Amino acid sequence: MTLSSMQTTLDQLPPACDDIQFNYCKTVACANFSRTDPQLYVLQKNNLQRPILICRECGAFPPVLSNHDVIAEKQRLAQQQNSGLAACSNSDCPHNGLPVLTYRQLYHAFGFSGERQRYRCKSCHHTFVDPWSNGNNKHQLQQKLLAYLFTGYTVREICRRLVINPKTFYDQLNHIAARCRHQLTIFDARLGKYAQTRHLATDLTPLQPHSDNGVLWIATAEADSGYVVSQHVNYQTQQPVTTYVNQHDAYHIGTRFIAPHSYYHSANTVVTSQGLLAHIDTTYRQILARKNMENPLSGEVTINYPTKGCLIRPQYTVYSHFLYLRELLNSNIPSLAVFMPQETLLRSACLSVFIDRVNNHTLHPLYVVEDAQWQHGQHAEKIDIVLMGWWRDRWSFSRNKGSNKGICHLGGNKKQQQHWLTVATHQAATIYQQRFYDQFSHMVNEPRRKLRPASLLPLLDIYRAWHNLCHQNKAGITPAQALGLISSPMTLEQLLQ
Ligand SMILES: [Zn+2]
Ligand SMILES: [Zn+2]
Repeated sequence: MTLSSMQTTLDQLPPACDDIQFNYCKTVACANFSRTDPQLYVLQKNNLQRPILICRECGAFPPVLSNHDVIAEKQRLAQQQNSGLAACSNSDCPHNGLPVLTYRQLYHAFGFSGERQRYRCKSCHHTFVDPWSNGNNKHQLQQKLLAYLFTGYTVREICRRLVINPKTFYDQLNHIAARCRHQLTIFDARLGKYAQTRHLATDLTPLQPHSDNGVLWIATAEADSGYVVSQHVNYQTQQPVTTYVNQHDAYHIGTRFIAPHSYYHSANTVVTSQGLLAHIDTTYRQILARKNMENPLSGEVTINYPTKGCLIRPQYTVYSHFLYLRELLNSNIPSLAVFMPQETLLRSACLSVFIDRVNNHTLHPLYVVEDAQWQHGQHAEKIDIVLMGWWRDRWSFSRNKGSNKGICHLGGNKKQQQHWLTVATHQAATIYQQRFYDQFSHMVNEPRRKLRPASLLPLLDIYRAWHNLCHQNKAGITPAQALGLISSPMTLEQLLQ
């Protein structure tokens, strides 16, 4: 990580990091869009805790972000994802943590250790074994454990039936999760090699909807097959090594960590807005009322801070999530579409990370809001255009048999409204998350777990692997099959071997 300058005053933008500068005007139609010359902006200093960039051209006021902390968060996500995979473990080596599975060219095969494959790092000559290169002698126990878990047994019941103690249960769960990450890495890498046009569906939702513990979960799926490409949460089990800053300060390293503190906000009488238009309008108002528009946790929300571990300001996790997607997906993909719910954070992160594609019109970012009754794929007959929100976003609405759907092309493209109204939906991600709540409701909602999200983290890896590789749709096809990544569904047994 290289900081171009550590010394900043409030006359300057937060320093770029690894050539990334995310602070600029994010209004696509504005002449200053994506331009990083500080002269183009006024940095508002009325409230030093909340510096705001104001675009001299269009008056938009994008929140300021620490580029350093986005990159640091991205490294955390990569570390988590690669944990347990065979990789150079020398912390002074540039190959440290880069798994053999996806970085084969960095390593030599170097004989065997027992039945396990040994590798040598080409940079530091450190050797290590691949823990996944021989059979799994615990697979029978693990298979039973998963089968019970997926049929809704509680941890206590599973322990009783398998005659194991809770510690063994969690050890095995973590082991299974690491094995699932190993399997997923292989298939994700296959997906990443294809250079074909992709539709992605993204959603952001609380990990435990009834706990208000501040842990948000972002998932992105390939929209047509339902294959979940990536998911992340803004929570880590370890305490940060830096000291907390009370307010977000983009000039302070480590500002992504939220200090342990609970916030209570008396529940508003939920306004049941009439119709889709009113609903979209209300959402824009709620976003504008946040202290930081790109931080859903800075709005009128209650946070019961987890008892262990640390929350991360969600904008850092979400920007990193999109950076991860950009790295995974083949850069030769001719055209990408990202379908998302109406959320400024998703919009800003997607546009900022894929700025080159936005500028050359090979990325279609779209807000999609639809009634539950809307039948996907139906032809949009009459289209109404409405400009909405502070940003005067251009929405297209269609109505059919009493149900409504609205889309908004965030890249400013006015063409193909009919096409997008027909194909755009973020249901692939939304349904995936909903099914997780249903499948594991006993763990997600268990009162003792409400402030202990850590025990759900291994479950997320296991669930994604099961969903992509084992779970069949009505036609007997898994998402991985639908994408051509594998020819048949995997059984739990195959997943664990
Ligand atoms: Zn502007
Ligand atoms: Zn090395």
